[in-house]
Amino acid sequence: MKIAIVGGGIGGLTAALALSESTHDITVFERSAGIREIGAGVQISPNAGRLLHSLGLGAAYSEISVHPHRVVLRRWEDDSIIRATDLDENFFTQHHVPLANVARNELVEILGDAVAARSNIAMKFSAHAVAVEPGDSASIVQFSDGSSQSFDIVIGADGIHSVVRPCVGGVDKPRFSGSAAYRALVPRSAVEDLPIDVTNRMGPDRHVVSYFIGRNRSHLNLVCISPEDSWETESWTEQGTKEDLYSRFEGWSPDFLSLLGRVEEPIFRWALYDREPLEKWGMGTTTLLGDACHPMLPFMAQGSCQAIEDAIVLARCLKEANTSDAAIALRRYEDARQGRTAQVQTSSLMNRDLFHMVDGQEQKDRDLIFSISPPGMSILDWVYEYDALTVSL
Ligand SMILES: Cc1cc2nc3c(=O)[nH]c(=O)nc-3n(C[C@H](O)[C@H](O)[C@H](O)COP(=O)(O)OP(=O)(O)OC[C@H]3O[C@@H](n4cnc5c(N)ncnc54)[C@H](O)[C@@H]3O)c2cc1C
Repeated sequence: MKIAIVGGGIGGLTAALALSESTHDITVFERSAGIREIGAGVQISPNAGRLLHSLGLGAAYSEISVHPHRVVLRRWEDDSIIRATDLDENFFTQHHVPLANVARNELVEILGDAVAARSNIAMKFSAHAVAVEPGDSASIVQFSDGSSQSFDIVIGADGIHSVVRPCVGGVDKPRFSGSAAYRALVPRSAVEDLPIDVTNRMGPDRHVVSYFIGRNRSHLNLVCISPEDSWETESWTEQGTKEDLYSRFEGWSPDFLSLLGRVEEPIFRWALYDREPLEKWGMGTTTLLGDACHPMLPFMAQGSCQAIEDAIVLARCLKEANTSDAAIALRRYEDARQGRTAQVQTSSLMNRDLFHMVDGQEQKDRDLIFSISPPGMSILDWVYEYDALTVSL
């Protein structure tokens, strides 16, 4: 079948790779002039890591991955450890691949290289879709230059501000969370003394996640979440300053403030938006994937991972499909994915309240529960154990 994917981010590129394993003829339309992700980190949990291996990316993916030794929850004021979970042999035995921290640009680069090596995928850059007309036997993509093209199937993988989404009935607007993410990098040479952990420092109304990323563990990536009254735009490229960070994290532990002192500018800030789970992801021969259908707050570190799962399930549903039953196959994909992604979206929202508790009894209870709950990652087993390669369709 002739398939168009609108959007060449992590979701769109993974979908292209997964679909290309059947005899489909795939075109990815990306509005940027090339494969490009502004550097920041992303955590890839085993549920998605296993899928990247299944697509034959194992060696390249391992090369760009940092495998943390522990996930550590710390208290904002003094850095005391609330809970430390070892990501040891037991974790590996249970989940088959390690948790990985990667630089987004490196992940997109290896996906892009794999796409370029597949003869049945065409990548079209500077191709800005403006709308899709979903039909029962074909769908038409319209572009900003006035041209249009017809495909047997169109997949909207064009992110939270998707132009495909409203064309299948999703007319809601993204919802501002009241928080912004400040993304900052510290060069490895300035933090050689730090353990290779994923650290989540939790404080009143804000939290900070840090982990190493990059080939040869080149940087420590900091994602600092703090309240923001209002926001006009949404972009990685809006810049912040060290002063912004100091003013937002006043009174935090001396170790953390010393870490901020070692941050390299530029610092990027991104307003955090999400949307309610969407009831209808598709229409006729058009469907959605990734942030286009289930944008979520990053507090489960699952947005990319869910887009990767979508890609695999979609490819499985379309494996045996042809032009006469393509729409039915897409509805099967949507049915298989909606419950799972809605659950992750809701959990991400709930984690905001859990991480941002102000000091008091509720926060003390939270910390106690974290500290006494059994070792291992059992709280996230339902996320990590989902297998997109075998889940029932
Ligand atoms: C602070 C922060 C931290 C995060 N951390 C994690 C994490 O640790 N783990 C994790 O799994 N997820 C994380 N996420 C979520 C993750 O970044 C997203 O879920 C993921 O990028 C979604 O991928 P996508 O391909 O669906 O969309 P996008 O990454 O938004 O890609 C969409 C692509 O479509 C293109 N495009 C858009 N519109 C058009 C158009 N009209 N025509 C053509 N092309 C178009 C864009 O240029 C882009 O290349 C985080 C998010 C944030 C904000």
